[in-house]
Amino acid sequence: MTADTSTVRNAAANTDVLSKVPTDLFIGGSWRAAAAGGRFDVHDPATGEVIAQVADGTVDDGLAAVDAAAAAGPAWAATPPRQRAEILRKAWQLMTERLDEVATVISLENGKALVDAKGEAAYAAEFFRWYSEETVRMDGMVTTAPSGANKIMVVHQPVGVCVLVTPWNFPAAMATRKMGPALGAGCTVVLKPASDTPLTALLMAQILDDAGVPKGVVNVVPSRKSGAVVAAMVNDERVRKLSFTGSTEVGRTLLKLAADTIVNTSMELGGNAPFLVFADADMDAAIEGAMIAKMRNGGEACTAANRFYVEESVAEDFAARLAEKMGALKVGPGTADGTQVGPLVNDAAVEKCDELVRGALESGARAVVGGSVPERTGSYYDPTVLVDVPADAAILREEIFGPVAPIVTFTDEAEAIRYANDTEYGLVAYVYTGDLARGLRVSEAIEAGMVGVNRGLVSDPAAPFGGVKQSGIGREGGHEGLLDYTESKYIAVAW
Ligand code: NAD
Repeated sequence: MTADTSTVRNAAANTDVLSKVPTDLFIGGSWRAAAAGGRFDVHDPATGEVIAQVADGTVDDGLAAVDAAAAAGPAWAATPPRQRAEILRKAWQLMTERLDEVATVISLENGKALVDAKGEAAYAAEFFRWYSEETVRMDGMVTTAPSGANKIMVVHQPVGVCVLVTPWNFPAAMATRKMGPALGAGCTVVLKPASDTPLTALLMAQILDDAGVPKGVVNVVPSRKSGAVVAAMVNDERVRKLSFTGSTEVGRTLLKLAADTIVNTSMELGGNAPFLVFADADMDAAIEGAMIAKMRNGGEACTAANRFYVEESVAEDFAARLAEKMGALKVGPGTADGTQVGPLVNDAAVEKCDELVRGALESGARAVVGGSVPERTGSYYDPTVLVDVPADAAILREEIFGPVAPIVTFTDEAEAIRYANDTEYGLVAYVYTGDLARGLRVSEAIEAGMVGVNRGLVSDPAAPFGGVKQSGIGREGGHEGLLDYTESKYIAVAW
């Protein structure tokens, strides 16, 4: 099959946008080639074509970035909060002005539909705005000790140099969700983006530089040797925090690494979100929420609904209506007009999706729509709805990370909760019911860091985002997100 280029929105415009994105490392406020001179290819998953070659950071480059961040640290920490806040606000403004450009870069290197990419770019920019507002509200505390002997004073100080490691699925938002609070708190950072999507991170660095972030405060080091580069940085005693978003498997490795130097860690890891639909739910709202929870980002989200549990009496209707909506989605290159679902990030993602679906079909599930890899160029998977999925199917245990909705029925609330909690993950869950008391009761019983009640989307820069169990440690977003980049210092003082 040939590439589906006829519908590509404007290839020339895309090339023009790409030509302006920096492709070198950003260290100490300058753009530079990698120490060993290496570069690696970045692909467009819609066509498989190479769209850029990015400097391949080495261990020496990672350590040079730590040098720069450490040197810039004291002055940045001492910069008045209002000044740090104004720089973050400027970054929000510049990113908002360049929204289309940022979205195009996201779509080209990640594959997601432009409509999703624009949503991500706007969401990502909001972290700069939200943290520009929080930066001037880093309140401490003073109280009298119970004995009356002294005052207990608590101040929040920046943790220091932070290494930030981000995934490919939200290349802008996962970077700003870390950089916004880190910079607001007075920390300096080295960002190591995913190697599938380094361009968006480099564009963020350019925006922050334009916004007036001083040299060395933000450093970006893409690398194909993530393990070695991140390990060298985390083993450097000047690094005081490692914030990671990615798979549980890599998170586990990094937690062990962080143990050697007792580095502060925040871990935003994998999810396996249950989506519960009770018979008393508003079915239109449940379908609409299911489409958002499942299909935002083409299913490539840690928050994606991974398992649908629907009360028996409404399950057939729910499956038929969901299948109709899923089957009507327009699949195509992310930047093509009207595309609602782009390709997955690469062929390995398609293979994983296909393996999980085939496993479910072999164990008795039935595809109401989709269920296979389409015959076309690019890393695509057909939007799929599966019913009659056995409760022990692998597709209910592993992150699908694609446009596939497996449906299982339940008979009562206790069973729904049991199913929802039958996972090692605990990031987010969704509950649809017309009975608010039940919605809140079930929310409390579900082992997850976040619950959407009659909502298919929970992410918000103003809210604490994060998981329990093997979905992670720590919270990003909200005021908690800022405090995660600080140490509380207790001063006992008598006056
Ligand atoms: P990944 O774990 O493969 O990679 C994440 C990052 O870690 C990338 O930058 C990668 O280059 C780097 N990395 C890989 N191996 C490393 C190593 N040994 N040492 C240091 N760094 C290493 O994850 P991914 O495939 O990029 O992203 C998808 C995963 O991210 C999914 O599991 C998804 O659920 C999760 N995710 C979680 C959240 C959240 O907030 N909880 C958000 C988005 C994505």
